[in-house]
Amino acid sequence: MTNPNSFEGRPEKQARWDGRYIGLAHHIAQWSKDPRAKVGAVLVQQRFSRIVATGFNGFPANVEDSAERLQNKARKLQMILHAEQNALLHAGRDARDCDVYVVGKPVCNVCATLLIQSGVRRVIAAAPRPGTSSYWDQVGLLAIEMMREAGVEFVPISSAQLDAIGLNRDEARAAEDPYAARQGVFDFGLFE
Ligand SMILES: [Zn+2]
Repeated sequence: MTNPNSFEGRPEKQARWDGRYIGLAHHIAQWSKDPRAKVGAVLVQQRFSRIVATGFNGFPANVEDSAERLQNKARKLQMILHAEQNALLHAGRDARDCDVYVVGKPVCNVCATLLIQSGVRRVIAAAPRPGTSSYWDQVGLLAIEMMREAGVEFVPISSAQLDAIGLNRDEARAAEDPYAARQGVFDFGLFE
């Protein structure tokens, strides 16, 4: 399988562009009004270094994102679109063969089904932690299982890449996940 714009054999180029898009996804995540989790996604056609679409988590257009709704966690989850979903909807068929960069949460099981079915070829996102009781870790592991099975490459964001955008993984996790503060250490080794 040949890919004309493959990063294969060019790890420095890959690292440079991955870092740029991770930083952009982190920037876009800050546009989310979700008080607990701000997530950004960037869909990129690597062949032309073209940003196809971006997204952040939020309610559908013209649905009022009032503080009351956003602070009611159960209600919010019933109404919110994930960053990946917004990016895919904006991209339409152009999502095919794109890479997606996601910052803020691991990719969930639902987003994984949509990314696979949209023809996304590579997913760069936080690695979920095995063995925790965190919902996001559990659905994140299922997402990775499906992506692997479907031949979608999963690339975990490294702690060095998070440091580069000023986002300390442990601090970010602790802020949004009560289990993180207790467990403290994250297993990067599993996916590297
Ligand atoms: Zn999701």
